[in-house]
Amino acid sequence: MRLRPRSIRARDTLIAAVLAALVFGGIAVGVDLAVRAAVGARLLEDTQLAARRVSANVRDGSLRGPVIPDDSRGRILIQVVGPGGEVLGATPAAAGRPPLSTLWPSRDKRIQDLVECDGRGPGGRCMAVEVIRTTTAPDSVVVYAGKPMPAILVTGLLEALLAVTVLLLSALVAWITWQIVGRTLRPVEQIRAQLAEISASDLSRRVPEPPGEDEIAQLARTANATLDRLEGAVARQRQFASDASHELRTPIAGLRANLEDASMHPEDTDLERTVHSALRDTDRLESIVTDLLLLARIGTGSTGAEEDIDLGALAEAEIQRRTSRLAIDTRLSEGVLVRGVRMQLVRLLGNLLDNAERYAGGKVEIAVSQNGTGARLTVTDDGTGIPEADRERVFQRFTRLDSARSRGAGGTGLGLAIAREIAHAHGGTLTIEDHPQGARFALTLPTTPP
Ligand code: ADP
Repeated sequence: MRLRPRSIRARDTLIAAVLAALVFGGIAVGVDLAVRAAVGARLLEDTQLAARRVSANVRDGSLRGPVIPDDSRGRILIQVVGPGGEVLGATPAAAGRPPLSTLWPSRDKRIQDLVECDGRGPGGRCMAVEVIRTTTAPDSVVVYAGKPMPAILVTGLLEALLAVTVLLLSALVAWITWQIVGRTLRPVEQIRAQLAEISASDLSRRVPEPPGEDEIAQLARTANATLDRLEGAVARQRQFASDASHELRTPIAGLRANLEDASMHPEDTDLERTVHSALRDTDRLESIVTDLLLLARIGTGSTGAEEDIDLGALAEAEIQRRTSRLAIDTRLSEGVLVRGVRMQLVRLLGNLLDNAERYAGGKVEIAVSQNGTGARLTVTDDGTGIPEADRERVFQRFTRLDSARSRGAGGTGLGLAIAREIAHAHGGTLTIEDHPQGARFALTLPTTPP
């Protein structure tokens, strides 16, 4: 059986009710004991006073006729009983009754008190009884003074009343808790319902934000911020898929046109030219797909293991590997160590150099230096440069400022996007800086201590 309620509201209410019952129950037990002790003390005091007065009267011989009750309502029963058990004198209410108790005090213990519950009290109720043997003489009489316990104590009515009070108070606490928790959780339920409705197809909707700074308001704000980012990411993803399809469609269309042409007019087809053109389109498709795959993999750890790399040496090796039409100036500091994936950093530098060579007038400069706590690598060319307004845009996928030229030169439009992604995956930055002539790309990377 499931004892733990599923909802927070029911759970909190149950806990509050149980705690309230325990606390109020404890208080009720204390009240019960205190009332019983106070009433018992009061009864004892009354019966003691009455018994002593009558006992003194017996001793000094002033007791004559019926015993006069202590209080006007005569609730204290007093009897003077002789050694033979015969009632010698009594208050009107106690006359004609058997002795209030069978206890007959000894000479050493003349005064005793007890509670008699053998049905001798009025209505069969229990009585507090004070018993005094008036003298130590063997034929001494005994005075009994008894007062019935209040009905509320004997019948258990007091406990019943206290139990009902505890139940009512616990129920009140449970009701208040149910209301308060319900009111507190209402916005959470609204947020949950709204989130449940928001699907990938409708990420523009937002959850209601309650006013204030409490936890629920913060939860709503965080949920909305997450939805903002999610919406942005989904939009970018869609844009990317559409851009990628668009990029792939051009070489596929070229390829198809070529092949259709060849199949329709085989006699007019220059086979060598057709195959050459088809291969060029295939190369282009391959490089786009390879770049897309690399973009997807950067930062996932699947493109190689990290190692300590001397950035100057890496640049030197890359320049040596190339056969450039341009003069490449180098200013490479030694011992600038960075931690990274060699293949990715080579690719980053390769992309920057490809662009520099493509757009430079005649000169490219590469510098590597230690810069404060980081490494700095710049690639500068003397070409047309990149207007300030486009300096962020060129890092976006498939952005080309001069479409015909860069596409014609075999660029996929992904070079700078890949380069920046690699820089970020290494904890660095890649930006375009101001330069009097041409473009200057600056890469910063955190260095590892030598
Ligand atoms: P692409 O494959 O077209 O070179 P990139 O992402 O490498 O793609 O570059 C994006 C665009 O940025 C290029 O099309 C070009 O217009 C511009 N660009 C990149 N590098 C340079 C540079 N050194 N000088 C001028 N323009 C550049």
